[in-house]
Amino acid sequence: PNYVFEFAEGNKDLKDLLGGKGANLAEMTNLGLPVPPGFTITTDACRHYLAHGRLPDGLDAEIDEKLRSLEKSMGKRLGQADDPLLVSVRSGAKFSMPGMMETVLNIGLNDDSVRGLAAQAGDDRFAWDSYRRLIQMFGKTVQGIEGELFEDAIDDVKQAKGVRNDLDLDADDYKALVDRFKAIVREATGAEFPADPRTQMRLAVNAVFDSWNAPRAVLYRRQERIPTDLGTAVNVCAMVFGNLGMDSGTGVAFTRDPATGQQGIYGDYLQNAQGEDVVAGVRNTVPLADLERVDAAAYAELLHIMETLENHYRDLCDIEFTIERGKLWMLQTRVGKRTAAAAFRIANQLVDQGVITLAEAVSRVTGDQLAQLMFPRFDHAAERHRLGSGMNASPGAAVGKAVFDSYTAIKWSRSGEDVILCRRETNPDDLEGMISATGILTSRGGKTSHAAVVARGMGKTCVCGAEELDIDTKNRRLTAPGGEVIEEGDVISIDGTSGEVFLGEVPVVASPVVRYFDGEVDPASDEADELVRNVHRFMQYSDAARRMNVRANADNAEDAARARRMGAQGIGLCRTEHMFLGDRRQLVERLILADTEKEQDESLAALLPLQRDDFWGVFEAMDGLPVTVRLLDPPLHEFLPDITELSVRVAVAEARGEKQEGDLRLLQAVHKLHEQNPMLGLRGVRLGLVVPGLFTMQVRAIAQAAADRIKAGGRPRPEIMIPLVGTVQELEIIRDESLRVLREVGAEFGVELDFPIGTMIELPRAALTAGQIAENAEFFSFGTNDLTQTVWGFSRDDVEASFFSAYLERGVFGVSPFESIDVDGVGRLIKIAVEEGRAARPGIKLGICGEHGGDPWSVRFFHQVGLDYVSCSPFRVPVARLEAGRAAA
Ligand code: ADP
Ligand code: MG
Ligand code: MG
Repeated sequence: PNYVFEFAEGNKDLKDLLGGKGANLAEMTNLGLPVPPGFTITTDACRHYLAHGRLPDGLDAEIDEKLRSLEKSMGKRLGQADDPLLVSVRSGAKFSMPGMMETVLNIGLNDDSVRGLAAQAGDDRFAWDSYRRLIQMFGKTVQGIEGELFEDAIDDVKQAKGVRNDLDLDADDYKALVDRFKAIVREATGAEFPADPRTQMRLAVNAVFDSWNAPRAVLYRRQERIPTDLGTAVNVCAMVFGNLGMDSGTGVAFTRDPATGQQGIYGDYLQNAQGEDVVAGVRNTVPLADLERVDAAAYAELLHIMETLENHYRDLCDIEFTIERGKLWMLQTRVGKRTAAAAFRIANQLVDQGVITLAEAVSRVTGDQLAQLMFPRFDHAAERHRLGSGMNASPGAAVGKAVFDSYTAIKWSRSGEDVILCRRETNPDDLEGMISATGILTSRGGKTSHAAVVARGMGKTCVCGAEELDIDTKNRRLTAPGGEVIEEGDVISIDGTSGEVFLGEVPVVASPVVRYFDGEVDPASDEADELVRNVHRFMQYSDAARRMNVRANADNAEDAARARRMGAQGIGLCRTEHMFLGDRRQLVERLILADTEKEQDESLAALLPLQRDDFWGVFEAMDGLPVTVRLLDPPLHEFLPDITELSVRVAVAEARGEKQEGDLRLLQAVHKLHEQNPMLGLRGVRLGLVVPGLFTMQVRAIAQAAADRIKAGGRPRPEIMIPLVGTVQELEIIRDESLRVLREVGAEFGVELDFPIGTMIELPRAALTAGQIAENAEFFSFGTNDLTQTVWGFSRDDVEASFFSAYLERGVFGVSPFESIDVDGVGRLIKIAVEEGRAARPGIKLGICGEHGGDPWSVRFFHQVGLDYVSCSPFRVPVARLEAGRAAA
């Protein structure tokens, strides 16, 4: 097989094989854009390397062959002493992982060729700068040497010379640095810096392959659910030089503003600089528009190329480019990351411009992005103490304690604190800290800096380049221009939408998107801003496209009404346990403590009208739509006082010589009902079978409320749901009782009460015997919370605090199975139950309630296995609607 392809041999659709960068370099090459020539070593080679620990046979020869042809086209050989060809060795996986993988520039330089390069360019400073960069990058990424050692050496040289800017260093300074860098390498590795160009290249290629498994790459993949076995490609690309003087430079750009989606180009440029300088915040960049003054011709060509790329990719592109003595070179492009608001705006604009269809547009926005648009914003009307501002890199309103290093960010966030990570600039080592922070604030770097790019990718609030704020990471403090000093632990608020930074906690208000969903903003009115109109358009499309219904989990009339405004098509889970708390607790206590049947009946009789009123309100709010009422689920002792508190009370009373009959009885009952594993104990249907009259009282309340609604002209559609069923026999008993009650109440009121009775599928046994259970159930609702608990044997209330962070850290899973459905395990059981349930009772209604109903990724899965609806919290209803539409489109 071929493992190496020249750029001209590939195209943008070969991302699996060539990686994103390689595929797009190929595409640009074939579009006739000025791309330095080069070749791509495929992901096949990487996978082979990762699997066998060595490169595939024949790869070296193939690389040699492509290298020879590159040398031929360039008219010089790699590292040739008098006129060296230099190359970059660049990683590039299928999915872009900003800053994750390593790139080495200027390969081919050594003590001989550096002189040839200097002579050819007529510029000593440039040649030695390039050489020191090679040793620095090679040392850091290939040889694993602490990057700070090199940076400190640069600082030393600058200090000795009394300068701060790298532009003030001359050829001799760089020559001296090369010596120092070589010494650093010698000390760290015990060997000389490899002088042979082909060896440099070989080691760099291996290092790129190895970096696939670098911890921060592993972490990023897990976060983003990128498969672990894809591997990366390696691109070898002839060097072009932005560090050849002030008529040279390097830049990054977007074809639209990635923060807002506004049309118009956007980017940063840095004169006399190479590669990463522009994103690393080495010097302050200038806005791309300023390039017009510096080099009008190159600027014009760049604009033209950006237009070509946008038209070609039909989407926002980001690019990397370099200008070498007035000549423009394209080094990278890809469909760029963007904020949620920008994603909605751009997709809409492209529809309006006739570039893409509405269906395509909807496929380009995600439920997660919609969720972000629903986050609250800072209240502009509130009194705010402004500390300063930077660039609005990634929107949102974040409040938290200021921390100045990633370690503290991780530590504090683990103990439940919201933190704002304040750094001068971030680098890939900060990734974990950035993940754990609520917001990110930097004082250097533009919208294309590492902090900005990564934050946008994660949907995290970020203000970057707040130069007026002095962030002193050594002393862990931030000083504002007004003189305010923020120490570690002080609370600040950052507004990623405006770029402002405030002292203390700024109050927040609902986002306009939520106000729209809530029915407060008419999308057709003037009050609706562009974002609201965009969201409305996409929601309409999704609602028409989706097959699944979306219901809400709501327990009271108020939530039900809100859910309905948010577009819920019914209630998928109406819990009844909340109806037993508060004032009613005493009634429940009496029920549990009852010695005689009479006492028991009395308590039930007292609860009945209260329950009836609860249901009445919910049925009214959801008139005409189904309401799935779950009969009482949690263990009874949850309704009794805390065992320790009660014991103390009884003991104190005894010591005082008082006798508290009631408390004593209560304590006995609490003891009797105490369970080691309440979640696996007396709850759900088990309770219904053991406490006589409890479930029938609930069914009676439902039936009476419904009958009453019918008489009042309403259209109540209750569905009665039995929780925690493990075997069809349990269900059968409760079902018969329930049907009897429905008939009785129907006769009493003179109406027909024909309501479906079904069950939750939340135990593995229920899923595995779904065929039998379906004979007695008119619907299934997958209780994925409990199903996840019982399939994994995880106690949800315990594991998240005790060991989940370790599991996530060690990569057992990338995201908690309670957050996103575990497709392989829990999902498989759902599939079995769906198939066998449908086989036994065609037309059985299938839904899911539980956290997963509002998780975009899980919603897709539920669509795929053929559920009829998902049910989630009212606030997630729009997210589920959009995602169900995307899944069906
Ligand atoms: P990343 O994926 O981290 O952006 P890249 O491989 O794109 O890594 O390269 C890092 C930096 O080096 C980028 O700024 C890129 O434009 C620059 N670069 C890469 N190859 C070359 C080259 N052949 N000539 C000049 N600059 C290059
Ligand atoms: Mg790049
Ligand atoms: Mg449950």
